[in-house]
Amino acid sequence: MKQYRAWVGGEWVVATSGQERQIFDPGNGEVLGVVPEFSREDMDHAIDAARYAFDQGPWRKTSALERGKFLFAVAAGIRVKASELAELETKNCGKPLAEAEFDIADAANCFEFYAGLATKIHGETMSVPANSLSFILREPIGVCGQIIPWNFPLLMAAWKLAPALAAGNTCVLKPSELTPLTALALAEIIEETGIPPGVVNIVTGTGPGAGEELALSEKVDKVAFTGGTATGKRIMQQAARSIKKISLELGGKNPNIVFADADFESAVDGALFGAFANQGQVCSAGSRLLVERSIHASFVEALLEKIPRIKIGHGMEPGVKMGPLVSSAHRDKVEAYIQIGREEGATLLCGGQRPNDLNSKGFFLEPTIFDHVTPSMRIAREEIFGPVLAIIPFDTEEEALQIANDTEYGLAAGVWTKDLNRALRMVREIKAGIAWVNTYHPTFNEMPWGGYKQSGIGRELGLYGIEAYLETKQVNINLDEAPIGWY
Ligand code: NAD
Repeated sequence: MKQYRAWVGGEWVVATSGQERQIFDPGNGEVLGVVPEFSREDMDHAIDAARYAFDQGPWRKTSALERGKFLFAVAAGIRVKASELAELETKNCGKPLAEAEFDIADAANCFEFYAGLATKIHGETMSVPANSLSFILREPIGVCGQIIPWNFPLLMAAWKLAPALAAGNTCVLKPSELTPLTALALAEIIEETGIPPGVVNIVTGTGPGAGEELALSEKVDKVAFTGGTATGKRIMQQAARSIKKISLELGGKNPNIVFADADFESAVDGALFGAFANQGQVCSAGSRLLVERSIHASFVEALLEKIPRIKIGHGMEPGVKMGPLVSSAHRDKVEAYIQIGREEGATLLCGGQRPNDLNSKGFFLEPTIFDHVTPSMRIAREEIFGPVLAIIPFDTEEEALQIANDTEYGLAAGVWTKDLNRALRMVREIKAGIAWVNTYHPTFNEMPWGGYKQSGIGRELGLYGIEAYLETKQVNINLDEAPIGWY
């Protein structure tokens, strides 16, 4: 069994207490390795390492060109180890290998995007009503605490680290306690680039045990969090104590809206992929399927016809399209929602149970579809974060819009129609940070990602993603030599 260590100040370290945590393969229950379980004090040391690297180390003064070269080297390192990383990702978080391979390639793309962007960070000059040379400097914020979830472990690490480093910050990244292995493998890749010690620190531990220190510590200048909305609220409160900069990427209960004039086959595929990719454990999952009533019956029939094609099994098995849920506790939570759906009177069309033909200790659950869900049901309002799709029929465009926006979340939405005017009307009226038309889920490193309402604060990726890691300073150089003579 592999003994992993955390990476702090350029050293591979264990927890001061000696405490460790076993990391499991959710597809068969096997132990993949053990990682150190950091305490708050351990986290404080990691913050000190990042603080020292920012305040005293060379990173802040390293040229943008050099920082970019480090990031290109990280991307190259990821590509060299791509198949190893994809396998590790699948084994640790359960997703089918093809999905993990996509994530790993995209993580490399993300480092490349920000490697190129490092040299494009620039200030501005403004013409002001005084004899002054006035300009704007963009500067790194400082020490960034970064907390990520378990559903896209390496990709989320890339989304956090790449822009922060391009901007000249130093980082302490805490992956989820369930899925830290690819982040630790990334630490090895980063170490090989020769990046100065303490610029990147990758530490393992629980949220309350270690993560909170990143939100609380006055030595941290910014906290960037991706995870559940309840955790995000807590982090926001804790960060408020020192008016820390924050970015929050939180949950969603996203509407995927199918109009009768949509391309039928594409919409069926998009509805299933939107709901069941990564076992539905996606913040932007199209977990509310709004279907125009005139095609409702045939659409439901077409969905059910395709469900048997979703092969369930360990993510490393060829042809598997749905792996296990990330943990036993998480499966329990999803199953509790399925029970709630039954009690609320929704019609269970398929799934709802553990597949009984799999001879496995994995945390599997069948793809589950509820029909005749009403917008007030809990399964239509709360984020389930599993393979559970709620179908809500609608009659008019106005009604679809009203249902779509009737949520505290605002991360993503999908619209399926051949009517361009209608698509644009919907896109403009839907309150969400991401809108898809005649597709679901694709996103690009070049484009901003983030939510309206309780789905978060700020944007990651694209040009917006680097803004989240930059401070802005106004500089005014007086060009009048005479004293101002005010007194
Ligand atoms: P979570 O909130 O339980 O945990 C996320 C991370 O926060 C983990 O690293 C965890 O250890 C840490 N954490 C937990 N409690 C903490 C605390 N008190 N202080 C500091 N850190 C703490 O979420 P999860 O179950 O890992 O992930 C699922 C959630 O993430 C879903 O709600 C999903 O929608 C959201 N998510 C959002 C996006 C997005 O881009 N908006 C992307 C992926 C996941």
